[in-house]
Amino acid sequence: MRLILLGPPGGGKGTQAKRLQDDYGLVHLSTGDMLRAAVASGSEIGKKAKAVMDAGKLVSDDIVIGIIADRIGQPDAAKGFILDGFPRTVAQAEALDVMLRERGIGIDAAIEVRVPDNMIVERITGRFTCAKCGAGYHDKFQRPKVDGVCDSCGGTEFSRRADDKAETVQSRLDAYHAQTAPILPFYEKKGVLKVIDGTLPIADVTKRLKEIVEGASVG
Ligand code: AMP
Repeated sequence: MRLILLGPPGGGKGTQAKRLQDDYGLVHLSTGDMLRAAVASGSEIGKKAKAVMDAGKLVSDDIVIGIIADRIGQPDAAKGFILDGFPRTVAQAEALDVMLRERGIGIDAAIEVRVPDNMIVERITGRFTCAKCGAGYHDKFQRPKVDGVCDSCGGTEFSRRADDKAETVQSRLDAYHAQTAPILPFYEKKGVLKVIDGTLPIADVTKRLKEIVEGASVG
């Protein structure tokens, strides 16, 4: 099973991808996570990407296509994967198509998790993660059971993404509408595009996603 999660930043793609990864044994491939790891490691790619990411703009197609080409060629990706945050431009979608065709495989579903812009700022600016295990939380929608303590690992240090500031969110939304939304028709034409209402509670979105994954229903 190979899935693409599409939708605006802060729409819940990462949260849902983590849930599907656990339940179906798929590898979660997030170009955002890979780029943040490159920035943290101080690699050449990280140095090139940092300022662009901090400004809420898109890193160049060459860089992200190269990262994904390497990653989907690794053995763990052979059992199936969930792409989260890639492709983000028509050029990336076309490059992915070529990569998969060369391997004789394709995409089973490209799922748009649809959330209107007016809900995005609150969703993004409230989110934070456990610095130890990476579990995701939100000031309003998903607080830890005990304030200041991670439910998953008991960690007490949390971090917020540098690009989750209100000032940067609008640039990220602009990039989404101008550069990423145009790939929706690309997957629609292939007959693999599904749409989910991303404003529903997290568990309901997961339920709809699972229905799609299990072929029980298409939306
Ligand atoms: P994300 O974690 O998916 O929200 O990505 C964070 C940031 O990483 C984005 O705002 C972009 O600057 C960069 N990024 C992630 N994935 C891509 C991609 N496929 N193409 C271009 N830039 C990307």
